[in-house]
Amino acid sequence: REKLLQVKNLKKYFNVSRHDVLKAVDGVTFDVYKGETLGLVGESGCGKSTTGRTIIRLYDPTEGEVIFDDQDVGGKLNHSDKKKLSKRMQMIFQDPYASLNPRMMVKDIIAEGLDIHHLAKSPKERMERVYEMLETVGLNREHANRYPHEFSGGQRQRIGIARALAVDPDFIIADEPISALDVSIQAQVVNLLQELQEKQGLTYLFIAHDLSMVKHISDRVGVMYLGNMAELATSDEVYEHPLHPYTQSLLSAIPVADPKIERSRERIILEGDVPSPIDPPSGCRFRTRCPFAMDVCAKVRPKWHEVEEGHWVACHLHDEEMKTEKA
Ligand code: SF4
Ligand code: MG
Repeated sequence: REKLLQVKNLKKYFNVSRHDVLKAVDGVTFDVYKGETLGLVGESGCGKSTTGRTIIRLYDPTEGEVIFDDQDVGGKLNHSDKKKLSKRMQMIFQDPYASLNPRMMVKDIIAEGLDIHHLAKSPKERMERVYEMLETVGLNREHANRYPHEFSGGQRQRIGIARALAVDPDFIIADEPISALDVSIQAQVVNLLQELQEKQGLTYLFIAHDLSMVKHISDRVGVMYLGNMAELATSDEVYEHPLHPYTQSLLSAIPVADPKIERSRERIILEGDVPSPIDPPSGCRFRTRCPFAMDVCAKVRPKWHEVEEGHWVACHLHDEEMKTEKA
């Protein structure tokens, strides 16, 4: 399969004070295939949003590589390079209200990208595109001259989606696009995103804080913990045969309806809180909460590697080399 995006050892650090560095993303590696939805999950503060924002260059990476459609977009980019990238990569945000300028009319919000990239040759063409986008997301022409506050949460998210899609991008980073919405509205927005994906051949990075939310939309799922990637595999594989103790603990909190699923039903309750990314644990970052932690876990950072085809994990329990060394 064709890779649209390759992220290699991506790091994003923030200086939070003179002495403290927050390692929000600390060496993550994964690919996104053309046309797929990759779900990215983890608790708040695990670095998933920062990963998305660094890929799309709202932040500059501290280190690492980002290859998009065979082009290196992770290095130094000038304004015009970033602009070019934003034509092909767009973001949908969690809180549609906060991300829509309250003083702009819907038509101008949707046309923002068109204006930036000079995609409309005339005011008429610009409005045609705005109308087209409104209809594409299930709104209508009459909505064009209204302001964001006149809409419900679900409608505002539709406006956010219309804005992102107006420039006809290939890749969408959706950062918890349904988390702020009523449960009854969530499915509608997810269905819309899926429809649009099929129609327009879009590729999604879909960020969510819990696994149950991404199960049905994601082809593959990556699980992050404290700035690192813990596990990544196809959706089914992650749900049915999770290998990383952190993934297992997340899943054990979700009731299982399907008796075919072999995984242990035993609830794994994690001790303590997520440690600070300013001073993360040595070795495996999950070790302070891992029920299976061994001596080696404090000393050596587990290698991110493919244990079976397409199934990646970073855990000493699943590292053959480590097992041999111990034996
Ligand atoms: Fe647990 Fe060790 Fe695996 Fe980390 S490397 S998840 S501490 S067993
Ligand atoms: Mg976030």
